[in-house]
Amino acid sequence: MQSHYSYQPADDLLKGRIILVTGAGDGIGRAAALGFADKGATVVLLGRTISKLEAVYDEIEARGAEKPAIYPLNFEGATWPDYKEMADRLYEEFGRLDGVLHNAGILGQITPLQGYNPELWHEVMQVNFTGPTMMLQALIPLLQQSQDASVILTSSSVGRKGRAFWGAYACSKFALEGLSQVMSEELENISQVRVNTLNPGATRTKMRAKAYPGEDPNTLPTPEEILPAYYYLMGPDSKGVTGQQLDAQPPKS
Ligand code: NAP
Repeated sequence: MQSHYSYQPADDLLKGRIILVTGAGDGIGRAAALGFADKGATVVLLGRTISKLEAVYDEIEARGAEKPAIYPLNFEGATWPDYKEMADRLYEEFGRLDGVLHNAGILGQITPLQGYNPELWHEVMQVNFTGPTMMLQALIPLLQQSQDASVILTSSSVGRKGRAFWGAYACSKFALEGLSQVMSEELENISQVRVNTLNPGATRTKMRAKAYPGEDPNTLPTPEEILPAYYYLMGPDSKGVTGQQLDAQPPKS
């Protein structure tokens, strides 16, 4: 059986699907947005830096893929009315959503708990977990309009086993794991919406470089190289897979 690590997507895997990607302007989210568009999806690019989203938009257009949409939103300051408005606007434009990749995130501090800045702790929880949870609450009705919808929540190895000094980042990822279990059970028997977590594993991005400044980035896979698991979970071959914790990279032997 083909493993999701080496999943080979058909060229039209995501044809006709409307997929929202958070943090689509950089790193893994950028690569996933481009990849989903290459496989036929109409991608909604969500993020906080409009210039980065516009660059991804232009690249998708230049490739001749389906015209994407940009939705500027900052998880730090957004509140419930913003998420309701977002759901209303997406409903007017598309009538449904077939996928959400929640990928946006910030690292916060790597420091012992007693030295952690409480305001930064709150910001990390807001951006990584609380804001995206409100977004998903608002988007559930749109996901329920789909015949085959997939929600992917981006986790981390420290969201499955805590590690010293990883503070709010680790706790926010544990919280996303909990959200995935709650949501997947709630939606399993009443809709065609599946919800899973995906841990990208060490990947060559700015966040990784910030967390591990001494590491040679060339020893890590690029965001493009870890996409097979994203295609698998977003596309129809993972139908019926829900409430699971997946890794985008095989365990190191
Ligand atoms: P990245 O390059 O730093 O990208 C993070 C993305 O999130 C950026 O597009 C960023 O937008 C966006 N973002 C940050 N704060 C936001 C906010 N307040 N509102 C909206 N968007 C916001 O990081 P990455 O390495 O690609 O990480 C992607 C995901 O994978 C994260 O959830 C991360 O925790 C997870 N992860 C990464 C690794 C790794 O090794 N890279 C390992 C495990 C898990 P701006 O560019 O505008 O700041």
